[in-house]
Amino acid sequence: MKYNLDLEPLSLPGLELKRPFLISGPCSAETEEQTLETARQLAKHGYKLFRAGIWKPRTRPGAFEGVGTLGLPWLKRVKEETGMFTCVEVANTHHVYEALKFGIDILWIGARTTANPFAVQEIADALKGIDIPVLIKNPVNPDLDLWIGAIERINQAGIKKIGAIHRGFSSFDDLKYRNSPHWQIPIELRRRIPQLPIINDPSHISGKRELLKEISQEAMDLNFDGLIIESHINPDKAWSDAAQQITPDALHEMIESIVLRKSKIENLPRTKLDKLREQIDKLDNQLLDLLKERMKVSEAIGHYKFENNITILQTRRYDEILTKRRAKAQEKGLNPDFVIDIFESIHEESIHCQNDIMNKELEKKK
Ligand code: PEP
Ligand code: MN
Repeated sequence: MKYNLDLEPLSLPGLELKRPFLISGPCSAETEEQTLETARQLAKHGYKLFRAGIWKPRTRPGAFEGVGTLGLPWLKRVKEETGMFTCVEVANTHHVYEALKFGIDILWIGARTTANPFAVQEIADALKGIDIPVLIKNPVNPDLDLWIGAIERINQAGIKKIGAIHRGFSSFDDLKYRNSPHWQIPIELRRRIPQLPIINDPSHISGKRELLKEISQEAMDLNFDGLIIESHINPDKAWSDAAQQITPDALHEMIESIVLRKSKIENLPRTKLDKLREQIDKLDNQLLDLLKERMKVSEAIGHYKFENNITILQTRRYDEILTKRRAKAQEKGLNPDFVIDIFESIHEESIHCQNDIMNKELEKKK
């Protein structure tokens, strides 16, 4: 699939956003003092990009929904006093106009908004003819096409400086994360649109400050371009997302502890890596040979089921396979969930194949 996107590197007057860059600031601007003091402490460490939510999309009514336009002059002061560039979330035309009026430097589109093409189109229309970087969070649901669709809408409005923010995906039963990362989705986004910068948002993935470091490190090891992390002068007293915020000093300490590894391997001695990759290629080919062989047996079973008029799905047998493979995975020191995912997928394909066989046999009889 080719995407017809006209993108430019992310930049601001006098500042190129080169890997790895950091955007930080409170989940919400609460008071002028809290906003300015957080910015001062971030600027002291040399950080250049300040975020603060002005309009907050909250799950249930009655929670703090942001100070609204009242907070925009505070961000203007942040800029004047610290020289930091400012970023806010916009969810409709009104937000766009207000943010532009107060000289906001970067806009971002929140996860709930990205999920709604009408809302994204409305924002895109409001941005026509304006040159401002726009960051687009993934939609709340794990739908890469919907994420790319939002990127296309904003790009078609003439915005060329676009970045994607990976903030994780809602899930009913994830106990570890507030929003499951599903890393394969941003990895696939990178594969499809290599020139698009991707920023990781460990705050909204984790929901708790204890996990910020491990997620940030993983994002850097996956070659993401930047991080957006919430910080607050008094995190425990924050009016929104208290559990995931950290002080600017704690943030700085965490950032300093992240290991940045090389993203290019061109100038390294290659023989060892080449040999290991050769081994991987060989093993992958063996896996494919085995899969082919397994699929042939499954086809033979399909014919047997047709001849004996029994249903394709035999739940007891399927259950037995999963239980035995899980136990075997454990015995071999493999992650049982990973192994189960593979066998579920193999079983699904076997069912498709056997279904095809049944249909073909029926045709023959006609
Ligand atoms: C935020 O960044 O504070 C926010 C509301 O994020 P999301 O859209 O990822 O929920
Ligand atoms: Mn937040």
